[in-house]
Amino acid sequence: MSAVVRAVVVTAVPPGAAVVTSVSAAVDALDSLWNAAAPSAAPSGHATRGADLSDGVEAVAVPWLNATGDGAQPPPMLYLRSCIAGDAHAVAEVVRKPAKRCNHGDGWHVGAPSGPRIECNPWCDASPTLAARQNLQRGLRLRLQVFRKSADVGWGLRTLEFIPKGSFIMEYVGEHCSRTVAEARAGTWAETDVYLMEIGKGYRHAAFSIDALHARNVSAFANFACFPNMRKEPMLGRHWDSRLPHAAFMATRDIVAGEELTYRRDDSATTTKRRSTSRVRCMCGHHDCRLWV
Ligand SMILES: [Zn+2]
Ligand SMILES: [Zn+2]
Repeated sequence: MSAVVRAVVVTAVPPGAAVVTSVSAAVDALDSLWNAAAPSAAPSGHATRGADLSDGVEAVAVPWLNATGDGAQPPPMLYLRSCIAGDAHAVAEVVRKPAKRCNHGDGWHVGAPSGPRIECNPWCDASPTLAARQNLQRGLRLRLQVFRKSADVGWGLRTLEFIPKGSFIMEYVGEHCSRTVAEARAGTWAETDVYLMEIGKGYRHAAFSIDALHARNVSAFANFACFPNMRKEPMLGRHWDSRLPHAAFMATRDIVAGEELTYRRDDSATTTKRRSTSRVRCMCGHHDCRLWV
């Protein structure tokens, strides 16, 4: 006991705390440190927070909160409003199909490719409902919060407001990379694998990946889960090349304020047969978790 108390007195008094001068005060200090280490009981003085992770890039601020008491802050990042080319040569090669307009801003685009949902674009005729269809182009409109879950899981993303089923939530934003570049990055920096999203032609034959390790928006903080409340959906806007769609997150059910936002990276990747190739463990904690993402 005395050794523990001495350790508290000598090394672990929080900055700004009163000097501990008695055994009972030292025990109190020890209690407060234990509480600080427990995520559910962090004293408010130990919480760290920020007002806007996007630093003004988004129209709606993206606050972050760490109430676990571990003092961690979100990693340094380049916050993006929309995707950039991480591999400009490859991107320039594929964007060959300029979007056409529709007549009344009603979303009926003659000649549009089948498959991905298509948003009205700046060349469409205006209508009172046009803005409502430009989810991607309007950017983040929901009040979300990046929060610290634990040292193991790291950060997560939750909503601070109710989101009705079927709503557009946000776009997955990062660097567009060809498969070759994405694989090279994952081979060099293993963490890249967690932040790569395949887009285009399905998992195996994807034309492109979005790499959100260093350049990202708020969506990179959403965790994988086996039973998620968001799904990915390809979406086209300013161009109609389906090899390079946007990746939109849509609500699969009503989501109440305070709920964490999660998605499944790949439906076929969380099965037993994918274990040999998936390098990323699922941390969703569900009792039926399939272990790999
Ligand atoms: Zn249109
Ligand atoms: Zn899981």
